[in-house]
Amino acid sequence: MASTFATVINCMDGRVQNPVNEWMKAKTGADYIDVITEAGPDKIMASTATASRLILKRILVSRDKHNSKEMALVAHYDCAGNPGSKEMHLDHLKKAAKIMETWNLGMHIMLIWADENWDIELISEIHP
Ligand SMILES: [Zn+2]
Repeated sequence: MASTFATVINCMDGRVQNPVNEWMKAKTGADYIDVITEAGPDKIMASTATASRLILKRILVSRDKHNSKEMALVAHYDCAGNPGSKEMHLDHLKKAAKIMETWNLGMHIMLIWADENWDIELISEIHP
């Protein structure tokens, strides 16, 4: 059987890579996770112009070349690229979700939060 892929838009922060990838594998059953990293990805994705300029192209590679049908956008505790409260991060995730909805990717998209113990909380989802 062919390998399956899922997609994550994660922070470049080394602390969140493994927890997010393990969570995503368990959640989706994917063999491999395609990881798009930025510093403070929730902030970047909350702005239409930068989100599409920097990230959309890479999402489409994962979707079209690796047949990924599931994606997660990560916000996390103690983010150097996007410092602020959890409340601020959740607001950025909400704005990012609105933008991603307009892209009509046909993917299941999860908005997730990594807390101070690097536990993952599913905040909301967009169904295709
Ligand atoms: Zn970060």
